[in-house]
Amino acid sequence: MLEDLPVDVGLIYEGERIRKANMYVDLAGPKSKGAELLVVAPKDKVQDGKVEVIGSDIQDMEEGKAYSFGIFVEVAGEKLEEDLEGVFERRIHDFANYVQTFMHLNSRDVIWCRVSKEGAKKGLSLKHVGKALIHLFKSEFDAIEAMQVTFYTDEKEVDRFISEARKVYQKRDSRIRGLKDEDVDVFYGCVLCQSFAPKHVCTITPSRTSSCGSITWFEGRAAVKVDPKGPIFEVHKGEEIDPERGEFSGINEMTYKRSNGEVERVFLHSLFDYPHTSCGCFEAIAFYIPEVDGIGVVHRDFHGVTPFGIPFSTMAGQVGGGVQSEGFQGIAVEYLRSPKFLKGDGGWDRVVWLPRDLKDRIGEDVPEHLREKIATEEDATDLETLKAFLKEKEHPVVERWAKEVEEVPAEGEKPAVTVPELEMPVQGIPIAGGGISITFKNAKIYAEKIIITRKEK
Ligand code: SF4
Repeated sequence: MLEDLPVDVGLIYEGERIRKANMYVDLAGPKSKGAELLVVAPKDKVQDGKVEVIGSDIQDMEEGKAYSFGIFVEVAGEKLEEDLEGVFERRIHDFANYVQTFMHLNSRDVIWCRVSKEGAKKGLSLKHVGKALIHLFKSEFDAIEAMQVTFYTDEKEVDRFISEARKVYQKRDSRIRGLKDEDVDVFYGCVLCQSFAPKHVCTITPSRTSSCGSITWFEGRAAVKVDPKGPIFEVHKGEEIDPERGEFSGINEMTYKRSNGEVERVFLHSLFDYPHTSCGCFEAIAFYIPEVDGIGVVHRDFHGVTPFGIPFSTMAGQVGGGVQSEGFQGIAVEYLRSPKFLKGDGGWDRVVWLPRDLKDRIGEDVPEHLREKIATEEDATDLETLKAFLKEKEHPVVERWAKEVEEVPAEGEKPAVTVPELEMPVQGIPIAGGGISITFKNAKIYAEKIIITRKEK
Protein backbone atom coordinates (compact mmCIF):
# COMPACT_ATOMS: atom_id res chain seq x y z
CA MET A 1 0.00 0.00 0.00
CA LEU A 2 2.82 2.41 0.80
CA GLU A 3 4.92 1.48 -2.26
CA ASP A 4 3.21 4.22 -4.30
CA LEU A 5 4.41 6.95 -1.96
CA PRO A 6 7.23 9.21 -3.24
CA VAL A 7 8.88 9.28 0.23
CA ASP A 8 9.71 6.64 2.86
CA VAL A 9 7.56 5.98 5.91
CA GLY A 10 8.96 4.59 9.16
CA LEU A 11 9.89 5.06 12.78
CA ILE A 12 13.37 6.31 11.82
CA TYR A 13 11.85 9.56 10.49
CA GLU A 14 10.03 10.33 13.74
CA GLY A 15 12.79 12.62 15.01
CA GLU A 16 13.20 14.41 11.66
CA ARG A 17 13.16 18.17 12.21
CA ILE A 18 12.48 20.47 9.26
CA ARG A 19 14.17 23.81 9.88
CA LYS A 20 12.84 27.07 8.44
CA ALA A 21 15.53 27.19 5.75
CA ASN A 22 14.33 23.84 4.44
CA MET A 23 10.59 24.53 4.69
CA TYR A 24 8.37 24.36 1.63
CA VAL A 25 5.11 25.25 3.43
CA ASP A 26 3.77 25.44 6.96
CA LEU A 27 0.33 23.96 7.64
CA ALA A 28 -1.40 25.55 10.67
CA GLY A 29 1.14 26.72 13.29
CA PRO A 30 1.76 30.18 14.81
CA LYS A 31 1.39 32.07 11.52
CA SER A 32 -1.89 30.41 10.61
CA LYS A 33 -4.56 28.25 12.25
CA GLY A 34 -5.65 24.63 12.35
CA ALA A 35 -6.81 21.65 14.34
CA GLU A 36 -6.88 17.88 14.36
CA LEU A 37 -9.72 15.65 15.44
CA LEU A 38 -10.27 11.91 15.56
CA VAL A 39 -13.73 10.50 16.16
CA VAL A 40 -15.19 7.03 16.44
CA ALA A 41 -18.02 6.80 13.89
CA PRO A 42 -20.59 4.14 12.92
CA LYS A 43 -19.18 1.65 10.43
CA ASP A 44 -21.58 2.62 7.64
CA LYS A 45 -20.34 6.24 7.84
CA VAL A 46 -16.68 5.39 7.30
CA GLN A 47 -15.34 4.48 3.86
CA ASP A 48 -12.25 2.44 4.61
CA GLY A 49 -9.12 3.82 2.93
CA LYS A 50 -10.71 7.04 1.69
CA VAL A 51 -8.54 10.20 1.77
CA GLU A 52 -9.99 13.53 0.74
CA VAL A 53 -8.41 16.98 0.46
CA ILE A 54 -10.81 19.94 0.72
CA GLY A 55 -8.85 22.90 -0.66
CA SER A 56 -5.36 23.08 -2.16
CA ASP A 57 -2.96 20.15 -1.95
CA ILE A 58 0.78 20.59 -1.31
CA GLN A 59 1.71 20.77 -4.97
CA ASP A 60 -0.68 23.71 -5.53
CA MET A 61 0.75 25.70 -2.60
CA GLU A 62 3.16 28.58 -2.86
CA GLU A 63 6.62 27.98 -1.41
CA GLY A 64 7.38 29.78 1.87
CA LYS A 65 3.73 30.36 2.88
CA ALA A 66 1.67 29.19 5.86
CA TYR A 67 -1.77 27.66 5.18
CA SER A 68 -4.76 26.92 7.39
CA PHE A 69 -4.99 23.21 8.02
CA GLY A 70 -7.36 20.62 9.46
CA ILE A 71 -6.88 16.87 9.91
CA PHE A 72 -10.13 14.96 10.45
CA VAL A 73 -9.85 11.22 11.07
CA GLU A 74 -12.88 8.92 11.38
CA VAL A 75 -12.45 5.36 12.62
CA ALA A 76 -14.92 2.51 13.04
CA GLY A 77 -14.79 -0.87 14.72
CA GLU A 78 -16.92 -2.99 17.04
CA LYS A 79 -14.50 -2.74 19.96
CA LEU A 80 -13.94 1.02 19.66
CA GLU A 81 -15.42 3.35 22.25
CA GLU A 82 -15.61 7.13 22.47
CA ASP A 83 -13.09 7.24 25.33
CA LEU A 84 -10.40 6.12 22.89
CA GLU A 85 -10.75 9.15 20.66
CA GLY A 86 -8.26 11.36 22.54
CA VAL A 87 -5.70 8.56 22.76
CA PHE A 88 -5.89 7.71 19.07
CA GLU A 89 -5.94 11.40 18.17
CA ARG A 90 -2.61 11.82 20.00
CA ARG A 91 -1.11 9.10 17.79
CA ILE A 92 -1.64 11.29 14.70
CA HIS A 93 1.45 13.12 15.98
CA ASP A 94 3.63 9.98 15.97
CA PHE A 95 2.36 8.50 12.76
CA ALA A 96 2.42 11.73 10.73
CA ASN A 97 6.05 12.13 11.82
CA TYR A 98 6.87 8.70 10.38
CA VAL A 99 6.35 10.26 6.92
CA GLN A 100 9.72 11.42 5.62
CA THR A 101 9.75 15.17 4.76
CA PHE A 102 6.59 15.84 6.83
CA MET A 103 6.72 17.20 10.37
CA HIS A 104 3.91 17.37 12.94
CA LEU A 105 4.07 19.24 16.26
CA ASN A 106 1.65 19.69 19.18
CA SER A 107 -1.98 18.62 19.36
CA ARG A 108 -5.64 19.64 19.15
CA ASP A 109 -6.11 23.22 17.87
CA VAL A 110 -2.46 24.18 18.23
CA ILE A 111 -1.00 21.72 15.71
CA TRP A 112 1.83 22.86 13.48
CA CYS A 113 2.85 20.82 10.44
CA ARG A 114 5.62 21.47 7.93
CA VAL A 115 6.51 20.01 4.54
CA SER A 116 10.14 20.19 3.46
CA LYS A 117 11.38 21.40 0.07
CA GLU A 118 12.60 17.86 -0.62
CA GLY A 119 9.11 16.45 0.01
CA ALA A 120 7.50 18.97 -2.35
CA LYS A 121 10.13 18.22 -4.99
CA LYS A 122 9.45 14.50 -4.74
CA GLY A 123 5.74 15.15 -5.33
CA LEU A 124 4.41 14.57 -1.81
CA SER A 125 0.65 15.07 -1.54
CA LEU A 126 -1.66 15.19 1.47
CA LYS A 127 -3.28 12.10 -0.04
CA HIS A 128 0.00 10.26 0.52
CA VAL A 129 0.11 11.44 4.15
CA GLY A 130 -3.47 10.23 4.62
CA LYS A 131 -2.66 6.82 3.13
CA ALA A 132 0.32 6.48 5.45
CA LEU A 133 -1.82 7.39 8.47
CA ILE A 134 -4.44 4.78 7.58
CA HIS A 135 -1.79 2.10 7.07
CA LEU A 136 0.00 2.90 10.35
CA PHE A 137 -3.13 3.17 12.49
CA LYS A 138 -4.59 -0.07 11.16
CA SER A 139 -1.29 -1.93 11.58
CA GLU A 140 -0.99 -0.81 15.20
CA PHE A 141 -4.60 -1.21 16.31
CA ASP A 142 -6.52 -4.33 15.27
CA ALA A 143 -9.66 -2.80 16.74
CA ILE A 144 -9.77 -0.24 13.89
CA GLU A 145 -11.76 -1.98 11.14
CA ALA A 146 -12.26 1.04 8.88
CA MET A 147 -10.65 4.49 8.70
CA GLN A 148 -10.96 7.55 6.49
CA VAL A 149 -9.06 10.85 6.55
CA THR A 150 -10.12 14.31 5.41
CA PHE A 151 -7.64 17.20 5.18
CA TYR A 152 -8.90 20.77 5.06
CA THR A 153 -6.86 23.63 3.63
CA ASP A 154 -9.72 25.81 2.37
CA GLU A 155 -9.82 28.66 4.90
CA LYS A 156 -13.59 28.71 5.42
CA GLU A 157 -13.70 24.95 5.83
CA VAL A 158 -10.82 25.10 8.32
CA ASP A 159 -12.69 27.73 10.38
CA ARG A 160 -15.80 25.55 10.46
CA PHE A 161 -13.74 22.48 11.34
CA ILE A 162 -11.85 24.23 14.17
CA SER A 163 -15.08 25.31 15.79
CA GLU A 164 -16.52 21.75 15.51
CA ALA A 165 -13.31 20.27 16.91
CA ARG A 166 -13.37 22.68 19.88
CA LYS A 167 -16.88 21.52 20.78
CA VAL A 168 -15.64 17.93 20.89
CA TYR A 169 -12.54 18.82 23.00
CA GLN A 170 -14.82 20.70 25.39
CA LYS A 171 -17.17 17.71 25.70
CA ARG A 172 -14.26 15.34 26.39
CA ASP A 173 -12.68 17.65 28.98
CA SER A 174 -15.91 18.37 30.82
CA ARG A 175 -16.51 14.64 31.46
CA ILE A 176 -13.54 14.47 33.81
CA ARG A 177 -14.47 17.53 35.89
CA GLY A 178 -16.74 15.71 38.33
CA LEU A 179 -14.17 13.02 39.16
CA LYS A 180 -11.59 13.42 41.94
CA ASP A 181 -8.22 11.69 42.50
CA GLU A 182 -9.65 10.23 45.73
CA ASP A 183 -12.46 8.51 43.76
CA VAL A 184 -10.12 6.21 41.80
CA ASP A 185 -7.68 3.42 42.74
CA VAL A 186 -5.26 3.80 39.86
CA PHE A 187 -3.75 6.61 37.81
CA TYR A 188 -2.25 6.32 34.33
CA GLY A 189 1.20 7.01 32.93
CA CYS A 190 2.27 7.82 29.36
CA VAL A 191 5.68 7.70 27.70
CA LEU A 192 4.62 8.53 24.15
CA CYS A 193 6.80 11.64 24.08
CA GLN A 194 10.00 9.83 25.02
CA SER A 195 11.01 9.71 21.35
CA PHE A 196 12.05 13.36 21.69
CA ALA A 197 12.03 13.86 25.49
CA PRO A 198 13.70 10.68 26.80
CA LYS A 199 13.22 11.35 30.53
CA HIS A 200 9.64 12.55 30.26
CA VAL A 201 6.88 10.52 31.88
CA CYS A 202 3.36 11.92 32.16
CA THR A 203 1.20 11.04 35.13
CA ILE A 204 -2.49 11.35 34.31
CA THR A 205 -4.98 11.58 37.18
CA PRO A 206 -8.58 12.85 37.28
CA SER A 207 -7.18 16.15 38.63
CA ARG A 208 -4.26 16.32 36.25
CA THR A 209 -4.96 15.93 32.55
CA SER A 210 -1.86 15.08 30.49
CA SER A 211 0.48 17.98 29.66
CA CYS A 212 -0.53 17.85 25.98
CA GLY A 213 -4.19 18.20 27.02
CA SER A 214 -5.19 15.26 24.82
CA ILE A 215 -5.41 12.42 27.33
CA THR A 216 -7.70 12.52 30.35
CA TRP A 217 -7.92 9.82 33.03
CA PHE A 218 -10.91 8.23 31.19
CA GLU A 219 -8.93 8.09 27.97
CA GLY A 220 -5.95 6.57 29.78
CA ARG A 221 -8.25 3.85 31.09
CA ALA A 222 -9.66 3.14 27.62
CA ALA A 223 -6.14 3.03 26.10
CA VAL A 224 -4.97 0.38 28.56
CA LYS A 225 -8.00 -1.77 27.73
CA VAL A 226 -7.36 -1.74 23.99
CA ASP A 227 -3.52 -1.79 24.12
CA PRO A 228 -2.36 -3.22 27.50
CA LYS A 229 1.31 -3.29 26.50
CA GLY A 230 1.30 0.14 24.86
CA PRO A 231 2.85 3.48 25.86
CA ILE A 232 -0.04 4.26 28.24
CA PHE A 233 -0.19 2.11 31.38
CA GLU A 234 -1.69 1.83 34.84
CA VAL A 235 0.05 3.42 37.82
CA HIS A 236 -0.74 2.24 41.33
CA LYS A 237 -0.91 5.17 43.71
CA GLY A 238 0.96 3.59 46.62
CA GLU A 239 1.25 5.75 49.74
CA GLU A 240 0.09 9.37 49.57
CA ILE A 241 3.21 11.14 50.89
CA ASP A 242 2.11 14.76 50.46
CA PRO A 243 -1.56 15.51 49.67
CA GLU A 244 -0.91 19.25 49.12
CA ARG A 245 1.90 18.93 46.60
CA GLY A 246 0.62 15.64 45.17
CA GLU A 247 3.37 13.18 45.96
CA PHE A 248 2.64 9.44 45.85
CA SER A 249 5.10 6.59 46.38
CA GLY A 250 3.60 4.69 43.41
CA ILE A 251 4.16 7.64 41.05
CA ASN A 252 7.74 8.10 42.27
CA GLU A 253 8.52 4.41 41.71
CA MET A 254 6.92 4.36 38.26
CA THR A 255 8.63 7.60 37.16
CA TYR A 256 12.03 6.38 38.36
CA LYS A 257 11.65 3.15 36.40
CA ARG A 258 10.19 4.68 33.23
CA SER A 259 12.70 7.55 33.14
CA ASN A 260 15.55 5.05 33.37
CA GLY A 261 16.46 6.23 36.85
CA GLU A 262 16.72 9.91 35.85
CA VAL A 263 13.71 11.28 37.78
CA GLU A 264 13.31 10.14 41.39
CA ARG A 265 10.45 12.21 42.80
CA VAL A 266 7.50 14.08 41.33
CA PHE A 267 5.13 16.62 42.87
CA LEU A 268 2.02 16.69 40.72
CA HIS A 269 0.77 20.01 42.06
CA SER A 270 3.83 22.16 42.67
CA LEU A 271 6.41 24.05 40.60
CA PHE A 272 9.08 23.68 43.28
CA ASP A 273 11.60 21.03 44.36
CA TYR A 274 10.34 18.14 42.20
CA PRO A 275 7.91 19.48 39.57
CA HIS A 276 6.42 17.20 36.91
CA THR A 277 8.72 16.92 33.90
CA SER A 278 7.82 18.81 30.71
CA CYS A 279 8.16 17.32 27.24
CA GLY A 280 7.44 19.88 24.51
CA CYS A 281 3.80 19.24 23.61
CA PHE A 282 2.34 21.09 26.60
CA GLU A 283 -0.47 23.53 25.91
CA ALA A 284 0.73 26.12 28.42
CA ILE A 285 3.57 26.85 30.86
CA ALA A 286 3.13 27.78 34.52
CA PHE A 287 6.16 29.83 35.65
CA TYR A 288 7.29 31.28 38.95
CA ILE A 289 8.03 35.02 39.05
CA PRO A 290 10.40 35.54 42.02
CA GLU A 291 10.15 39.34 41.90
CA VAL A 292 6.48 39.19 42.98
CA ASP A 293 6.53 35.70 44.52
CA GLY A 294 3.67 34.78 42.20
CA ILE A 295 2.93 32.48 39.29
CA GLY A 296 2.23 33.33 35.65
CA VAL A 297 0.69 31.07 33.03
CA VAL A 298 1.25 31.53 29.29
CA HIS A 299 -0.35 29.41 26.56
CA ARG A 300 0.81 28.46 23.11
CA ASP A 301 -1.59 30.79 21.26
CA PHE A 302 -0.17 33.89 22.95
CA HIS A 303 2.40 35.55 20.71
CA GLY A 304 3.30 38.52 22.91
CA VAL A 305 5.86 38.59 25.71
CA THR A 306 5.45 37.48 29.32
CA PRO A 307 6.48 39.81 32.18
CA PHE A 308 9.94 38.20 31.90
CA GLY A 309 10.23 39.87 28.49
CA ILE A 310 10.27 36.57 26.60
CA PRO A 311 7.52 34.90 24.55
CA PHE A 312 6.03 31.41 25.01
CA SER A 313 8.29 29.94 22.30
CA THR A 314 11.52 30.99 24.07
CA MET A 315 10.29 29.74 27.43
CA ALA A 316 9.15 26.45 25.87
CA GLY A 317 12.61 25.93 24.40
CA GLN A 318 14.07 26.31 27.89
CA VAL A 319 11.75 24.09 29.91
CA GLY A 320 10.98 21.23 27.49
CA GLY A 321 12.93 18.09 26.67
CA GLY A 322 11.78 16.01 29.64
CA VAL A 323 13.70 17.72 32.44
CA GLN A 324 12.41 18.92 35.82
CA SER A 325 12.86 22.69 35.56
CA GLU A 326 12.21 24.07 39.01
CA GLY A 327 9.87 27.06 38.87
CA PHE A 328 8.44 26.00 35.50
CA GLN A 329 6.03 23.34 34.32
CA GLY A 330 4.36 22.45 31.02
CA ILE A 331 0.64 21.95 31.64
CA ALA A 332 -2.69 21.41 29.86
CA VAL A 333 -5.07 24.37 29.78
CA GLU A 334 -7.65 22.05 31.38
CA TYR A 335 -5.41 21.72 34.46
CA LEU A 336 -6.25 25.36 35.27
CA ARG A 337 -9.79 24.12 35.99
CA SER A 338 -8.62 21.38 38.35
CA PRO A 339 -9.44 21.78 42.05
CA LYS A 340 -5.83 20.69 42.67
CA PHE A 341 -4.24 23.25 40.32
CA LEU A 342 -0.81 23.98 41.87
CA LYS A 343 -2.36 23.35 45.27
CA GLY A 344 1.03 22.91 46.92
CA ASP A 345 2.02 26.46 45.90
CA GLY A 346 -1.20 28.18 46.95
CA GLY A 347 -3.28 27.43 43.83
CA TRP A 348 -5.10 30.34 42.16
CA ASP A 349 -4.26 32.70 45.03
CA ARG A 350 -0.70 32.63 43.76
CA VAL A 351 -1.54 33.36 40.08
CA VAL A 352 -0.61 36.91 39.12
CA TRP A 353 -0.47 37.02 35.32
CA LEU A 354 -2.34 35.38 32.40
CA PRO A 355 -2.74 36.39 28.73
CA ARG A 356 -6.14 38.06 28.16
CA ASP A 357 -7.21 35.33 25.72
CA LEU A 358 -6.47 32.58 28.25
CA LYS A 359 -8.21 34.46 31.07
CA ASP A 360 -11.32 34.81 28.90
CA ARG A 361 -11.12 31.14 27.92
CA ILE A 362 -11.03 29.98 31.53
CA GLY A 363 -13.79 32.48 32.31
CA GLU A 364 -15.78 31.61 35.39
CA ASP A 365 -13.29 28.98 36.46
CA VAL A 366 -10.97 31.79 37.56
CA PRO A 367 -12.07 32.24 41.21
CA GLU A 368 -14.35 35.25 41.43
CA HIS A 369 -12.35 37.08 44.11
CA LEU A 370 -9.29 37.07 41.82
CA ARG A 371 -10.76 37.92 38.42
CA GLU A 372 -9.91 41.62 38.58
CA LYS A 373 -6.67 41.06 40.49
CA ILE A 374 -4.83 38.88 38.00
CA ALA A 375 -2.98 40.99 35.43
CA THR A 376 -2.96 40.37 31.67
CA GLU A 377 -0.70 41.84 28.98
CA GLU A 378 -3.13 44.78 28.92
CA ASP A 379 -2.29 45.60 32.55
CA ALA A 380 1.36 44.64 32.88
CA THR A 381 4.08 44.13 30.33
CA ASP A 382 7.11 43.86 32.61
CA LEU A 383 7.98 43.15 36.23
CA GLU A 384 7.68 46.76 37.38
CA THR A 385 4.19 47.32 35.94
CA LEU A 386 3.13 43.90 37.23
CA LYS A 387 4.26 44.72 40.74
CA ALA A 388 2.42 48.07 40.67
CA PHE A 389 -0.77 46.42 39.35
CA LEU A 390 -0.78 43.72 42.04
CA LYS A 391 -0.24 46.31 44.75
CA GLU A 392 -3.02 48.53 43.46
CA LYS A 393 -5.47 45.61 43.23
CA GLU A 394 -4.40 44.14 46.58
CA HIS A 395 -3.72 40.73 45.13
CA PRO A 396 -3.25 38.03 47.85
CA VAL A 397 0.48 37.71 46.99
CA VAL A 398 1.04 41.25 48.26
CA GLU A 399 0.45 39.96 51.80
CA ARG A 400 3.27 37.50 51.23
CA TRP A 401 5.65 40.39 50.43
CA ALA A 402 4.80 42.07 53.72
CA LYS A 403 5.31 38.80 55.59
CA GLU A 404 8.68 38.23 53.98
CA VAL A 405 9.88 41.75 54.89
CA GLU A 406 8.65 41.37 58.50
CA GLU A 407 10.39 38.06 58.84
CA VAL A 408 13.75 39.04 57.41
CA PRO A 409 16.15 37.29 59.80
CA ALA A 410 18.73 39.03 61.91
CA GLU A 411 22.27 38.59 60.73
CA GLY A 412 23.41 35.02 61.24
CA GLU A 413 19.86 33.66 61.66
CA LYS A 414 18.21 31.30 59.18
CA PRO A 415 15.31 32.86 57.23
CA ALA A 416 11.85 32.02 58.63
CA VAL A 417 10.20 32.23 55.18
CA THR A 418 11.70 29.95 52.61
CA VAL A 419 12.10 31.51 49.19
CA PRO A 420 12.17 28.62 46.76
CA GLU A 421 15.51 27.87 45.24
CA LEU A 422 15.16 28.54 41.53
CA GLU A 423 17.31 27.11 38.83
CA MET A 424 16.68 29.29 35.78
CA PRO A 425 17.23 27.42 32.53
CA VAL A 426 19.41 29.46 30.20
CA GLN A 427 18.59 29.03 26.52
CA GLY A 428 21.19 27.01 24.75
CA ILE A 429 22.83 25.85 27.96
CA PRO A 430 21.50 22.47 29.06
CA ILE A 431 20.86 22.14 32.79
CA ALA A 432 20.90 18.37 32.75
CA GLY A 433 23.47 16.10 31.23
CA GLY A 434 26.65 17.76 32.41
CA GLY A 435 26.02 21.33 31.22
CA ILE A 436 26.40 24.49 33.26
CA SER A 437 24.12 24.87 36.27
CA ILE A 438 23.56 28.31 37.81
CA THR A 439 21.67 28.30 41.11
CA PHE A 440 20.33 31.47 42.74
CA LYS A 441 19.25 30.97 46.35
CA ASN A 442 17.68 33.73 48.45
CA ALA A 443 19.48 36.22 46.24
CA LYS A 444 18.77 39.37 44.24
CA ILE A 445 21.37 40.10 41.62
CA TYR A 446 21.39 43.24 39.48
CA ALA A 447 23.80 43.28 36.58
CA GLU A 448 24.07 45.32 33.42
CA LYS A 449 25.96 42.57 31.69
CA ILE A 450 26.97 38.95 32.40
CA ILE A 451 29.92 37.39 30.60
CA ILE A 452 30.41 33.62 30.92
CA THR A 453 33.78 32.34 29.74
CA ARG A 454 35.12 28.81 29.49
CA LYS A 455 37.83 28.02 32.06
CA GLU A 456 41.08 27.03 30.40
CA LYS A 457 42.40 23.61 31.53
S1 SF4 B 1 2.37 14.90 26.68
FE1 SF4 B 1 2.26 13.16 28.07
S2 SF4 B 1 0.26 12.24 27.78
FE2 SF4 B 1 0.63 13.60 26.03
S3 SF4 B 1 1.48 12.20 24.52
FE3 SF4 B 1 3.21 13.13 25.62
S4 SF4 B 1 3.75 11.69 27.24
FE4 SF4 B 1 1.68 11.15 26.49
